[in-house]
Amino acid sequence: MPSANIPFDNSYARDLQGFYESCQPAKVQAPQLLFFNRGLAETLRLELDGFDLAAMFSGNELPAGAQPIAQAYAGHQFGQFNPQLGDGRALLIGEVIDIYGQRRDIALKGSGRTPFSRRGDGKAAVGPMLREVLIGEAMHALGIPATRALAVVATGEPVYRERVLPGAILTRVAASHLRVGTFQYFAAHGTVGQVRQLADYAIARHYPALQDADNRYLGFLRAVSEKQAALIAHWMHVGFIHGVMNTDNMAISGETIDFGPCAFLEAYDPRAVFSSIDELGRYAYSEQPSIAQWNLSRLAETLLPLIDEDETRAIELATAVIDEFSDRYRHHWIGHARAKLGLHDTSRTRLHSDVLLAGNWLDLLHAQQVDYTLAWRYLADAAEGNEARLRSLFAGQPGLDGWLKHWRERCAAEDSGNANAARERAERMRKTNPWIIPRNHRVEAALATASDKGDLGPFEALLNSLRKPFEEDPALAPYAEPAPAGFMAEFKTFCGT
Ligand code: AMP
Ligand code: MG
Repeated sequence: MPSANIPFDNSYARDLQGFYESCQPAKVQAPQLLFFNRGLAETLRLELDGFDLAAMFSGNELPAGAQPIAQAYAGHQFGQFNPQLGDGRALLIGEVIDIYGQRRDIALKGSGRTPFSRRGDGKAAVGPMLREVLIGEAMHALGIPATRALAVVATGEPVYRERVLPGAILTRVAASHLRVGTFQYFAAHGTVGQVRQLADYAIARHYPALQDADNRYLGFLRAVSEKQAALIAHWMHVGFIHGVMNTDNMAISGETIDFGPCAFLEAYDPRAVFSSIDELGRYAYSEQPSIAQWNLSRLAETLLPLIDEDETRAIELATAVIDEFSDRYRHHWIGHARAKLGLHDTSRTRLHSDVLLAGNWLDLLHAQQVDYTLAWRYLADAAEGNEARLRSLFAGQPGLDGWLKHWRERCAAEDSGNANAARERAERMRKTNPWIIPRNHRVEAALATASDKGDLGPFEALLNSLRKPFEEDPALAPYAEPAPAGFMAEFKTFCGT
């Protein structure tokens, strides 16, 4: 069969020689397509009708122009520096320009051993790769930058973990796979010239406006910091817990990447942590902003020689940018919080009291262990005077009554003279407070059924429910429901390697 004609333009392979190892995917026995993202393929201008997608997305028959490479990177994992990570089970096969003019990486994950595999087998299993589909598509539908799955292929081969699992390969689409850890690798092993080359590449690809700026490397640090502040604020507002925010899992582009031990909050608890290996709660829900800042400091360290020849001066400049992260984050956080509260008057004079109002609401959810997603969603009903669904979530009412009174006063203060204010507020709130998130129990059940029984029904139904999270389709009501009693208390996530 002729190979698909994909207009690859492989800038990483071309411009960054010495930053990767060329490597072919392993051939797999019996590739079978489990998932194909037609909508995404269209935005990438891939014309694949009539081609053997299983053969292509297993890596058995790469399209012409593909140039598979394993990227080098290092990283801090749970705070410990590992100078030698890299694509141990992934290959960038090429880049394309999408219909929005954006350059996108197309990469395989689970495609066999590479020069960076260390003791790993280079493989991946069906469950974790389908999780990448569910969470990436959910994040996308929620409006949160994230890598997305183009395809998942079952390999027909076993992978050996605590138990034997069916193998799979994910095709992942990303704005790029540049990570904080990519910079760390070349700062640790390479030359200043290589770090500069990498930074110039990253600037040209992700922050082109900086190309002619004064001290563009400092500007680059600031831009990455701003992207991460926006991203983490967004995560926090949908209750997303990444679970493994190692520096090799933080993308320079500002996309969410690597959906391993991630989870979504149910009952609101800032200390929530679900990952079985995160014993100290380093990556707990409420720690995410400060961990992002910590990771950015690691990026800053790699850029110091580029920022100023005088190291003391470079540290001063970089530190100022890192310190600004907190304000950037707070700015994004309160922006979202106001939108979620249905407030459109964002004046500075109200800032302090709005922060208090949002904080008191979260305290109330925490104290009464209320479902985070539904509480926000039902607050939109309350904006129109219908409090029944909201009240049903709270065991005790006194705290709620007091808070609602304050919130209504705040709303009234910006509503003067608008007879439709309540309805408009509710509509706005429903566009920012999702009804459906990927409920952990649904994700687990769908992946288990797919992996253990080869039945994709629950996975497909769940995926479908995640496509329009802000709309209330009564047929999807079961997907909006919190986990059955007791599920979350026992719930643990795993790295899925
Ligand atoms: P992750 O936890 O998926 O972010 O991966 C951390 C590092 O371990 C990366 O360098 C991966 O390439 C590597 N890795 C994870 N699983 C495997 C595997 N099964 N075989 C080889 N390398 C792996
Ligand atoms: Mg990773």
